[in-house]
Amino acid sequence: MKETWDVVVVGAGMVGLAVAYELSRRNLRVALLDKGGLGQGASAANCGLVLASDAEPGLSRDLTLEGFRLLSTLSARLGYDFEFEQKTFLQALISETELAEAEEMLNGPLSKPLHFRLLTPEESRRYEPYLDTKDALAVFHSLQAVVNPLQLLFAYYRAARRQGVTWFPKTEVRGFSDYGNAQVAVQTERGEFKARKVIVAAGAWSAKLLSPLPVELPMAFIQGEAMVTEALPSLLSCCTGLFTSDRIDLEKALGADLLAGKQSGLEETSCLELDVRQMQGGNLLIGQKTDYNSAYRDTVSWNGMGLMAGQVLRWFPTLRAVRVLRTWVSPVAFTPDHQPLLGPLPHFENIFLATGFKSTIVLTPIVAELAADWACDANMPYDLGEFRPARFGEE
Ligand SMILES: Cc1cc2nc3c(=O)[nH]c(=O)nc-3n(C[C@H](O)[C@H](O)[C@H](O)COP(=O)(O)OP(=O)(O)OC[C@H]3O[C@@H](n4cnc5c(N)ncnc54)[C@H](O)[C@@H]3O)c2cc1C
Repeated sequence: MKETWDVVVVGAGMVGLAVAYELSRRNLRVALLDKGGLGQGASAANCGLVLASDAEPGLSRDLTLEGFRLLSTLSARLGYDFEFEQKTFLQALISETELAEAEEMLNGPLSKPLHFRLLTPEESRRYEPYLDTKDALAVFHSLQAVVNPLQLLFAYYRAARRQGVTWFPKTEVRGFSDYGNAQVAVQTERGEFKARKVIVAAGAWSAKLLSPLPVELPMAFIQGEAMVTEALPSLLSCCTGLFTSDRIDLEKALGADLLAGKQSGLEETSCLELDVRQMQGGNLLIGQKTDYNSAYRDTVSWNGMGLMAGQVLRWFPTLRAVRVLRTWVSPVAFTPDHQPLLGPLPHFENIFLATGFKSTIVLTPIVAELAADWACDANMPYDLGEFRPARFGEE
């Protein structure tokens, strides 16, 4: 490649696509590179939940609330309906621990803006008539929404292409080097791309891609499994979820191992969270079993499918005869302090990393704007200091 790009974006998941779209709105010449095609990573494998409730106070929450606001009008801006829909979330509470956590949340600072409320089983059934919560309670959330993840990807792709982003599928990036004159050389299987700036949005592959650079990034990935059923007549109106402390325990243990530089002994450790909802086309989207496994894999586990199906039937016995159409697994980037990596790399100030988000969908539009601000040397409306990738190498 002889030409020099203003920005090369690595990774065409939702983050990379959104970044490429924002850059093109600012009239920059953008090359978008992916080792596969569209939706090769987690962005085509997720459940489409737009979660505003689990952000930590401070920068995470500020960005989440701004992301939610931007996402709610994004369909109109992109000119494509990706099925954004505000949705009632019912969180089933099946143990004392979950009840205690819910009570903490109900008394916490987010309770008011997000309208958390504890429901009795009868009240839950008023929202979701086929839900059999037995004697469990549920928490009601608002300011949560859903999207169709595949349509969201396509919406960004279409808008980015319309605005002139140049798309290079099957272009694996293998390394970077300084080119002098404030340029970066991006080495790929299809030759070298020169760019003024590079934005890395390679999700769970980011650490592997950046490992030759002298940057300490103690990242790992967890793997999520999900499934989709055949289309059904309208049955479910809410998103019903089960969020257990097992996932938090898994993440804490993995984070501690990573920070201590230890090989994690957590292989084979898995946990079940559940979210089930009916999409606009009638299919039920069901996720997810999560585990840690240090190798990328592309087949789902029997026990994961069984656990998910069993839990869905426990709540919705009426779904017993429904057929599953497709199952999948995908790796998701994980950072030991549960904070994203968002900012330029130390020693490589022309390379910006954007990955490791806890709830990626809700953050995607605001992250794309911030990355574009950085590429244009514009003032950012937020201080991203606490998310800087350099933080792990510092005392
Ligand atoms: C089952 C499941 C359910 C989930 N549910 C939700 C949910 O409801 N809500 C939510 O917010 N999040 C959810 N997530 C997490 C979410 O999907 C991810 O955090 C998000 O998709 C990450 O987006 P990304 O663009 O950073 O990475 P990805 O979508 O993984 O994209 C990274 C891209 O980089 C490319 N790439 C990698 N290495 C290279 C290289 N060397 N050269 C070129 N290209 C490269 C890959 O091919 C890939 O296309 C879920 C994940 C899973 C697996």
